[in-house]
Amino acid sequence: MTLNASQEISLLRETKYETRRPTVPAMEEILYEPIPLLDHGFIRVIDYMGDDSAVVQAARVSYGKGTKQINEDKGLINYLLRHFHTTPFEMCEIKFHLKMPIFVARQWLRHRTASVNEYSARYSILDREFYVPEPDQLAIQSKTNRQGRAETLNPFQAHEVLQILKEDATKAYDHYQQFLNQDMDGQVIDPEKPGIARELARINLPVNYYTQMYWKINLHNWMHFLRLRADEHAQYEIRVYAQAMLDVFQRWVPFTYQAFCDYRLNSMNLSAKALQAIKLMLKGETVTAETVGMSPGEWREFQGVLAAS
Ligand SMILES: Cc1cc2nc3c(=O)[nH]c(=O)nc-3n(C[C@H](O)[C@H](O)[C@H](O)COP(=O)(O)OP(=O)(O)OC[C@H]3O[C@@H](n4cnc5c(N)ncnc54)[C@H](O)[C@@H]3O)c2cc1C
Repeated sequence: MTLNASQEISLLRETKYETRRPTVPAMEEILYEPIPLLDHGFIRVIDYMGDDSAVVQAARVSYGKGTKQINEDKGLINYLLRHFHTTPFEMCEIKFHLKMPIFVARQWLRHRTASVNEYSARYSILDREFYVPEPDQLAIQSKTNRQGRAETLNPFQAHEVLQILKEDATKAYDHYQQFLNQDMDGQVIDPEKPGIARELARINLPVNYYTQMYWKINLHNWMHFLRLRADEHAQYEIRVYAQAMLDVFQRWVPFTYQAFCDYRLNSMNLSAKALQAIKLMLKGETVTAETVGMSPGEWREFQGVLAAS
């Protein structure tokens, strides 16, 4: 974070507005403040609209705040989420400023139901900031999950990988500057040479370089995003962002957050076969994958769920 950026954030945080709209004190506390993630990344809340009452208000199509008793509101939110009555959650919106490695952004941007504006490396020059994993995140390929990691590398191997990562990223940035013909302070490096267009100079940069975006999403779509990306199957580097967002979620709409944890994040859908297996188990029968016609993979996942609960 540059000095200028920190000063701008301080100034924003000092400025207060009077409003008739509901605000959430716990969100006001963190508004604009970057929450650091990975080695150079962050999330920061730029704005939000609505609160738990806005969900209730929309569900009841009420004139006022929509609030009855707190317990009734909580119960209604639980009911809505449990029964996939999702439109009331679309009434709340949240806007973030995000900074993440490009490979994380590639996964992030698969979520099509948000509004995005990304930093333009055609227009501006990217900083010399690239992601280097912590040694305990350097792991070998998992044998059971093709999209996963297994044991961490030993310190010697980890050191070697980190060295290569740093060398490659540094070299790529040196060449980027050479293409631009511009140093870190914006000074021309070689007056005899032209600078290549920024949109072309950037193309040799690896995907561990950082990018930034503004990202706005409604509460319903955000829950879908968090369900997928805070899950243990999501890649670690995007998961840390989603997990930091869970803390923001809890501050903003605590009733909805609790319902989300109960009915989405920590829940699972049972297939008809899984349900049949459970019914048989409750009767005391021995059940195998064959008994209920599950594939080995399905059976493994089912066993995993039973073991976890
Ligand atoms: C663990 C994990 C592994 C993954 N692996 C891969 C991979 O190997 N390769 C890969 O390409 N992707 C992969 N993905 C990305 C994944 O396939 C989805 O693209 C991503 O999670 C976004 O999900 P979504 O489409 O539901 O979200 P959003 O784009 O936010 O959409 C939300 C919902 O809106 C609806 N919707 C939005 N657009 C459309 C549309 N055009 N048509 C119909 N319905 C629509 C759907 O109901 C959708 O679920 C992976 C994701 C995860 C979490």
